[in-house]
Amino acid sequence: KGFWRLFKLGVSIDRDPGKDFLHISDALLEEVAKVLEFPVASMLPPEAFVVLRKSFDARKSQKEPKFVYTVEMDVDKLLDLEPRTWDFISLLKPKIGLIEHMPHEKVVGDLVSVIHDNKKIDQDRVPVENGHSSSLSGSKSPAAKKPKIAVVGSGPSGLFASLVLAEFGADVTLIERGQPVEKRGRDIGALVVRRILQLESNFCFGEGGAGTWSDGKLVTRIGRNSGSVMSVMKTLVQFGAPESILVDGKPHLGTDRLIPLLRNFRQHLQDLGVNIRFGTRVDDLIVENGHVVGVNVSDSSGRLQLSSEKLGFDAVVLAVGHSARDVYQMLLSHNVELLPKDFAVGLRIEHPQELINIIQYSKLANEVRSGRGKIPVADYKVVEYVKGEEKDASSRSCYSFCMCPGGQVVVTSVNPSELCINGMSFSRRASKWANAALAVTVSQKDFSALGFHGPLAGVEFQREFEQRAANMGGGSFVVPVQIVKDFMDNKVSGKILIHFVFFTTDQWLSSRAFFMSATSLPSSSYRLGVKAANLHELFPVHITEALQHSISAFDQELPGFISNGALLHGVETRTSSPVQIPRIPETFESMSVGGLYPVGEGAGYAGGIVSAAVDGMYAGFALAKSLNLYKGEI
Ligand code: FAD
Repeated sequence: KGFWRLFKLGVSIDRDPGKDFLHISDALLEEVAKVLEFPVASMLPPEAFVVLRKSFDARKSQKEPKFVYTVEMDVDKLLDLEPRTWDFISLLKPKIGLIEHMPHEKVVGDLVSVIHDNKKIDQDRVPVENGHSSSLSGSKSPAAKKPKIAVVGSGPSGLFASLVLAEFGADVTLIERGQPVEKRGRDIGALVVRRILQLESNFCFGEGGAGTWSDGKLVTRIGRNSGSVMSVMKTLVQFGAPESILVDGKPHLGTDRLIPLLRNFRQHLQDLGVNIRFGTRVDDLIVENGHVVGVNVSDSSGRLQLSSEKLGFDAVVLAVGHSARDVYQMLLSHNVELLPKDFAVGLRIEHPQELINIIQYSKLANEVRSGRGKIPVADYKVVEYVKGEEKDASSRSCYSFCMCPGGQVVVTSVNPSELCINGMSFSRRASKWANAALAVTVSQKDFSALGFHGPLAGVEFQREFEQRAANMGGGSFVVPVQIVKDFMDNKVSGKILIHFVFFTTDQWLSSRAFFMSATSLPSSSYRLGVKAANLHELFPVHITEALQHSISAFDQELPGFISNGALLHGVETRTSSPVQIPRIPETFESMSVGGLYPVGEGAGYAGGIVSAAVDGMYAGFALAKSLNLYKGEI
């Protein structure tokens, strides 16, 4: 009875159904039959099986590269089999790593249906209480009114918190300092084509948050199959993501898919009555008797000259990401406790994608057709443990981070005097470059070694290297670079300084770049120009040495990783939040100020699109519970 999971079902490339990912192909059914030791594959009804996961395995240890499936079998749906074939099923035993019996699992739907179902159950027995949560004023007016909630920030955490709260009937105002995706796209275009940085609408600020102009990787370390992650994924599908993200071993969306998805998300929130205020920045909290009772906002669109506006709320969800450094300062002015947090800094390495395809797939590299064929564009994930030397007794890890196959390096500065970068891609991952951060872990010891102390020591540490990188590039967002081989030998690459980039059209999303290079530098996908520099001058020596040591180890694992075509770009500082805002685990409320709910990456509880969305979702449930809008479990 019940469900069984069958793992490691390998299907060869030529027999795989390709993009028809939910299809139980004959080849897959044959693999299922082999694992079940069932003699006639064709007698197994395909409808009894559901594909849960599909990934591509091209590890050198494999005899041949293949697609690897995890499939769930519903025993009830095998009931139509002839009685004698039941003998096979009744003898089925778990086999470690291959067959597992699953107790009746609750199937998790998309968030919207989950909430609707819950509302149906609770409708009669849960009265919607008046607008004050017990942690706020505690007063109850006789007329039932919806609690008024501000969600600050429309990144994944803010969007999912808004969704849950609005679905439960709260009166939600979503406040976003940046612009909606349509306008934000034009602002980003102006940045990458004309070097005009809009301080409030850029790669970090605006609808969808930092992850909108990104690779849209939906991989997460918080448990791919957990109910909460699946609920987020199914919600994304409801708003337009392809269903393949539910089964893909390495799901990704790409910027071109994220933009329409965010428009649908916005429309749904507005249909629920959410008041979305773009171009509006929260400058301050209004705190009375240790509780937040509202926020001061001002216009950040640059169009209006509005003086500060006061808005009253019963609770404030703070989902501002970790690039809003002004918000950390503002929180300190209210004595909100902030703790410095370990994170990682480093450089972004870029190789020709073709080289990564060859390293990973050997001969099969020819078959990678820009993501359109069966075989995905190759990626990599590397990590090295670096043992501390006498001078620097701390041990560190150096790891690849936010790898963007077929992507481009982009500038994520929100201030022209600071330079930091990241990577993005489109859904087809068709560019000719592959980039990834190589990040080294840093801790408070590193911050204090440079003279930075206190809750924002990590922020100061980041800023130090961002300013150094801006100076090394010479300004105007030109990025300092060094060929990997030269970085290993500590010598500057090339003599001529600027590497110019020209575009065919203003439409940077579709334009093709032509590179006029008079230097010996390999071409870079970065569109605002690169300048040869000695990146050894950027970080303290132990970070540089950790990078050198690790790059050398990565070259052993991926021969060719160190090559003349590989270019290191500086600097990658915003890998995760340098700060944590302590909160009460059960309620998600700040430990310092009542009615304040710090969530997502900026609060130090997430790292990446999916985990930020999950955190916002849980915070939404917790707040709905404290407001008596929801009585279930969290
Ligand atoms: P954010 O997404 O940072 O959103 C915070 C929002 O708050 C922003 O929109 C900001 O404008 C707004 N805000 C800030 N201050 C205020 C204020 N005072 N008033 C009003 N609004 C305010 N992660 C992945 O998992 N996969 C990827 O492929 C990936 N690629 C990335 C590529 C790039 C270029 C970048 C920059 C990040 C990428 N990330 C990726 C990381 C990911 O984007 C973040 O982890 C995630 O967006 C964090 O979500 P969040 O909701 O906590 O905060």
